[in-house]
Amino acid sequence: MKFVADTMLEKLARWLRLIGNDVVYDSYKPLKELVDISNSEERVFLTRRKSFPESITPVTLYDICSENFDVQMKRVIAQFSLDINAKLFTRCVECNVEVEKVIDKETVKDRVPQRSWEGFTEFYECPKCKKVFWKGAHIINTMKKLSRILDKKI
Ligand SMILES: [Zn+2]
Repeated sequence: MKFVADTMLEKLARWLRLIGNDVVYDSYKPLKELVDISNSEERVFLTRRKSFPESITPVTLYDICSENFDVQMKRVIAQFSLDINAKLFTRCVECNVEVEKVIDKETVKDRVPQRSWEGFTEFYECPKCKKVFWKGAHIINTMKKLSRILDKKI
């Protein structure tokens, strides 16, 4: 799914990227620019704003309503039937670009703690910020957090 997240929704934007969604988030961009991106790229505009200036209106918007992150995440996943497993950890949460599988793990040796480098065979790299990812303990923690959010009665 393609979204634009409004300026107050940074955490939501990062978590939606984490489960593989293409989310434009930029707290430095003015509202008009964000809405233009949403409209021209057919992205759902996620917001908590109660109103928009008349000349600046997203074509497709979803009102998050809540300030609570767990509620926001659960609502967006349900509203857009997002598959949380299909594209988990395929996108860099900082850059919003898809990570690439590292062909030769020697090339990332200096960017990974030695124990992880020795213990894992598959690594992924963000083509933009060059950060390296692997399926370590943090993935299990993230999965636990996601299932806790989804199990919660909201
Ligand atoms: Zn990146």
